[in-house]
Amino acid sequence: MRLIFLGPPGAGKGTQARELALEWGVPQIATGDMLRDAMAAGTPLGAEAKSYYDRGALVPDEVIVRLIRERLRAPDAGRGFILDGFPRTLPQAEALDRLLAELGQSLDRVVYFGVAESELVRRLTGRRVCRSCGRTFHVVSAPPARDGACDRCGGALYQRVDDGEDTVRNRLRVYESQTAPLLAFYEGRGLLARVAGDGPIDGVRADARKAAGGPR
Ligand code: ADP
Ligand code: ADP
Ligand code: ZN
Repeated sequence: MRLIFLGPPGAGKGTQARELALEWGVPQIATGDMLRDAMAAGTPLGAEAKSYYDRGALVPDEVIVRLIRERLRAPDAGRGFILDGFPRTLPQAEALDRLLAELGQSLDRVVYFGVAESELVRRLTGRRVCRSCGRTFHVVSAPPARDGACDRCGGALYQRVDDGEDTVRNRLRVYESQTAPLLAFYEGRGLLARVAGDGPIDGVRADARKAAGGPR
């Protein structure tokens, strides 16, 4: 099972990928999570990414492609994966094609989550993330049982620096100009399956499950 979860920031890619990757026994490969880990650890990659990340701009393709190249070569990715937040530009999508060809692999499906812009802003500005395990909550639509603490691991919840309203609006513009063209790219290959991402989390999950495995 080799999938891409595609969609604007806040569409629910991470929320769905985290659960479905567990269910399917494949890794969730989330470039945003990898960059946050690198920034928290203070690695050279983290230092390079920070200025882009903080203002909601994309990290340069070559940096991201290097990161993904390494990750896809890890043994656990041999059984399949869900790519969450990658590719985000046409050059990244083309680099992914070359990488998979090198590995003798191919994509099964690209699942696109569509959500109205006003709802994206609401979701992103209310998002809270667990400092320890990365699980995502929402102050209104997916609140933790105990205020400020992760349901799964008890870790402290925080608001991402790029989830303030101004940066969110910038990220949505970046998505429209740089990432949205990937829809036509994958549709042309017959790989695209669309899911309405607006409904409740469980309903979206059922649709994503179908879209990932059902007929195109
Ligand atoms: P969201 O889940 O809200 O869409 P991510 O966690 O996927 O956000 O990404 C956060 C930030 O990390 C992006 O705004 C960008 O700066 C950087 N980033 C993540 N993935 C990529 C990528 N594939 N290409 C370039 N930048 C990326
Ligand atoms: P993405 O990875 O696409 O940027 P997330 O999975 O991090 O998006 O979700 C963004 C925010 O929206 C989080 O706060 C999450 O709890 C919330 N969320 C995700 N899916 C839904 C949904 N179907 N309905 C309401 N809120 C949702
Ligand atoms: Zn946690």
